[in-house]
Amino acid sequence: MVGHQVSSQSWNGKHITVAGLGVSGVSAARALAGLGARVTVVDGGDSQALRERAATLEEGGITVRLADADTLPEGTDLVVTSPGWKPESPLFAAAAEAGVEVVGDVEIAWQLRDETSAPWLAVTGTNGKTTTVQMLASILEAAGLRTAAVGNIGTPIIDVVLSDQPYDVLAVELSSYQLHWAPSLRAHSAAVLNLAPDHLDWHGSMRAYAADKGRIYEGNTVACVYNVEDPRTEHLVREADVEEGCRAIGFTLGAPGPSMLGVVDGLLVDRAFVENRHQQAQELAEVSDITPAAPHNIANALAAAALARAFGVEASAVRDGLRAFRPDAHRIAHVADVDGVAYVDDSKATNTHAAQASLAAYESIVWIAGGLAKGATFDELVTASAKRLRGAVLIGADRALIREALARHAPDVPVVDLERTDTGAMAAAVREAARLARPGDTVLMAPACASMDMFTNYNKRGEAFAEAVRALAAGRTAAE
Ligand code: ADP
Repeated sequence: MVGHQVSSQSWNGKHITVAGLGVSGVSAARALAGLGARVTVVDGGDSQALRERAATLEEGGITVRLADADTLPEGTDLVVTSPGWKPESPLFAAAAEAGVEVVGDVEIAWQLRDETSAPWLAVTGTNGKTTTVQMLASILEAAGLRTAAVGNIGTPIIDVVLSDQPYDVLAVELSSYQLHWAPSLRAHSAAVLNLAPDHLDWHGSMRAYAADKGRIYEGNTVACVYNVEDPRTEHLVREADVEEGCRAIGFTLGAPGPSMLGVVDGLLVDRAFVENRHQQAQELAEVSDITPAAPHNIANALAAAALARAFGVEASAVRDGLRAFRPDAHRIAHVADVDGVAYVDDSKATNTHAAQASLAAYESIVWIAGGLAKGATFDELVTASAKRLRGAVLIGADRALIREALARHAPDVPVVDLERTDTGAMAAAVREAARLARPGDTVLMAPACASMDMFTNYNKRGEAFAEAVRALAAGRTAAE
């Protein structure tokens, strides 16, 4: 196992192979070359964009090998991988054979810290990571702390750790991939928001996926934050090896027990970070301070509040930080009302767990769904949401899986299968949804699937939806 807080001297002259010429790969290559390492970047692609990127790195003395990602460059001492690379990639097999360790950019960032570096408050989970980390950063800022939301978002984490700007604390989003490749990470406090099957094709099994998520709790010093409504997260806390005195802190949408944060009469309350948790509760904020105040988002706010409170933040800063927070685009974003029907873009709902959370936030829904299922099944989602569905409109490569689940568990719900995977299908889907909807309904695009069969990414899918809704609204006005 790599020891942490290795001094930068130890990189001098090392031959490091960086796998992947993406954002994190470029950041790792630059940083390690800057510390005196001999760096080779390998990437299986060979596009014009990659060549241009390679040329800039080569100017800095970094070797780049395109269209050849499978063999290990001679003399490699360490492989630094980008998060998306599959564990069974031939490069890693070659590394294992040569006895060379493979780590990720988060591990490198962690190793580059020293005693003066800011502690990390870390967040993982199947859904809600970005939202929670942004809420957390907003709360920490409201408390007057110098902070940044990093990890899976924003500036690459290595750049933040090496920057001259002093931070008091970092709000760190970590994916299961990043945790998989970060063996020596030890956060101040960490939260696992929820755990549902996702990325199983990458991890191999739910057990392996959960084990990678659970690594976030290893060595925590102050608090391991878990979701009371998701016992799998509490189980991960119990399995973790933490520092003496580190506490397990639950968050719940119900009334909190001792050592929990929860909700009472529309208020977020803390029964964990108070003097006498058996008799006292501290009011933190009102539910209405959260945007949007959907149940899953209240859970995110509670998790963010728990991490902030573990860091000693006062109650008023939790309230101010939550009030200041606004979610990123394509996360339950209200696009427009047309003929008394609300159109909501939750393109970021790329798995069934996320889609289920957003379906739970509305009473009567025409659901636009479909895309790449990534090995998921839809029975649980459809069963849980059937009574809220006015109708469903299906698009995308794996739409048959959803159609079959609807036929099994919601046979009375009208379903329109557009049988299309072209980009223009979104406009047709919106028109079909408008036909099915009644005033007071919500047309919710929460596809429960990844977007790459039809769009470059979920942003583009969300934009296509919003554009189609605007066209619908314009058509209605024109017809009047
Ligand atoms: P991540 O960074 O984990 O992908 P985001 O904050 O970007 O999470 O949200 C991803 C999707 O998950 C959105 O569609 C959102 O509506 C949904 N979501 C957010 N928080 C939760 C939660 N706590 N439980 C279930 N779904 C959630």
